[in-house]
Amino acid sequence: MQIKLFSFNPFQVNTYLLINEYRECILIDAGCLDSYECTKLSSYIKENKLSLKRVLNTHLHLDHIFGNKFVFEEYGIKPEAHKADEFLINRFPLMAKNFGINSNTTIEIGNYLNDNDTITLGNIKLTVLHTPGHSPGGVSFYADDDHCLFSGDSLFLGSVGRTDLEGGDFATLKSSIVNKLFSLPKNTLVFPGHGPKTSIDFEKNNNPYLR
Ligand SMILES: [Zn+2]
Ligand SMILES: [Zn+2]
Repeated sequence: MQIKLFSFNPFQVNTYLLINEYRECILIDAGCLDSYECTKLSSYIKENKLSLKRVLNTHLHLDHIFGNKFVFEEYGIKPEAHKADEFLINRFPLMAKNFGINSNTTIEIGNYLNDNDTITLGNIKLTVLHTPGHSPGGVSFYADDDHCLFSGDSLFLGSVGRTDLEGGDFATLKSSIVNKLFSLPKNTLVFPGHGPKTSIDFEKNNNPYLR
């Protein structure tokens, strides 16, 4: 599995493209907002002769779903996400307006993701881990064979996701991280929804929010 990272939109969301041995790919959190960013994504897919197969969302906060409409229109693929975040889709137009962002529609969930689901595409093998707390339907994607975790906005380098938004809860987030993510092998690399990558071992030993 190859990982291509894009950083998109004013919130600097990490959008990950996972590529398998057949040049098929899975997109995690389509954050592309304006036409420049959307073209950057589609050009990369085209120039590298990739075939996009699935679009996964770690959660449905607006910064992680800006590109879902573009991706649906371009590739005919609807996003997959946890049902508990579905209410956030209705919040999208107002949230975007509040942030002064000119984007007022997004795409409904095409397939619900559940805890322990497995997603396989060639040599890409992901396990869905329901990691609520930042949002009720937050999920992380764990790639056992590649020793990596896509943690969305649950766990960051030296930090954790905010829990003051609707449906957020710190005790729930802490439990998701400590009980689920910290039980993964300690050499697991963590690719978060914002900022640089880290590892389970580093966060276990250094994250000040989880003492
Ligand atoms: Zn978020
Ligand atoms: Zn975010």
